[in-house]
Amino acid sequence: MRATVIYGAGDVRIEQVPDPKVADPTDAVVRVLRSCICGSDLWPYGGMKPSERGRRIGHEFLGVVEDTGADVHGLKTGDVVVAPFVWADNTCDFCREGLHTSCRHGGGWGARGVDGGQGEAVRVPQADGTLVKLPVGEDAALLPSLLTLSDVFPTGHHAAVRARVSPRTAVTVIGDGAVGLCAVLAAKRLGAERILLMGRHTGRTDLGREFGATDVVAERGEEGIAKVRELTGGDGTHAVLECVGTKQALETGLGVVRAGGTVSRVGVPQYDEGPVGPDMFMRNITVTGGVAPARHYIEELLPDVLEGRVEPGRVFDRTVDIDGIPGGYQEMADRKALKVLVKP
Ligand SMILES: [Zn+2]
Repeated sequence: MRATVIYGAGDVRIEQVPDPKVADPTDAVVRVLRSCICGSDLWPYGGMKPSERGRRIGHEFLGVVEDTGADVHGLKTGDVVVAPFVWADNTCDFCREGLHTSCRHGGGWGARGVDGGQGEAVRVPQADGTLVKLPVGEDAALLPSLLTLSDVFPTGHHAAVRARVSPRTAVTVIGDGAVGLCAVLAAKRLGAERILLMGRHTGRTDLGREFGATDVVAERGEEGIAKVRELTGGDGTHAVLECVGTKQALETGLGVVRAGGTVSRVGVPQYDEGPVGPDMFMRNITVTGGVAPARHYIEELLPDVLEGRVEPGRVFDRTVDIDGIPGGYQEMADRKALKVLVKP
């Protein structure tokens, strides 16, 4: 089969790789119907050191079960399933606590002999725990929105959950990428009435308004902080959902959060140290967030997607086939595409 391999910054190739087969009795093989490129894939695309062997990439996909191991009981050939962006047993103590990203028997895609998601098929470890069956056909119009359950929608939702967003909280979302827009959608879904979206790409912030943003703040840095404060009576907002991952975005978050409020980070931090000194202490600010246990949220979010109450799939603004994946990376890196859907 063909799959995506990254060799270094700016170097993504489509190659022939071995067809996935059931190796462990808990495995399933899934033929990919839809995959996509993640904003977090752009970090290695921007800065990975050249590698002779390369590594498989992609961690968001949905597809059709083609084969199952002897210990897989909840799935059968022909089932349409979505995979969260880490695989997990869904039974260990961490999974039972809703923290599938710390599963004792789990792991990531595209590493240690496990396929990446940007290919024609994937061997799925811990298939019963990892995959969620979808009550749709292979050609359902809902596939793009269902695919967002892999990562981007649960990640936005996680940011909102960790910030305890409710009808009583005002929210600032930092970042108009696909995660930021899904964070707006998630905050709206949880009842927030005031949602300020910080972003300056009008095509994206317009979609943010449709997802529920009440205000758009295009200014960045100190100017952006001043603008959010001006719009909120000088105080800032209870919840801040940081969906970028840079130190500047965290600084902005601490600048726009109301005293006693929460900054929830879901952008993968590209920094090791942050401003956690006296200002944060004296204002009782909580910094939380982290990698989203997407698997934990899928059942909760699925009905709203199936019934069309939310349409997170609108974040996809390009569709490519497997040969179009390298170009899709470049378009996202150039910010010409918001999020690229792959139809292998
Ligand atoms: Zn587990």
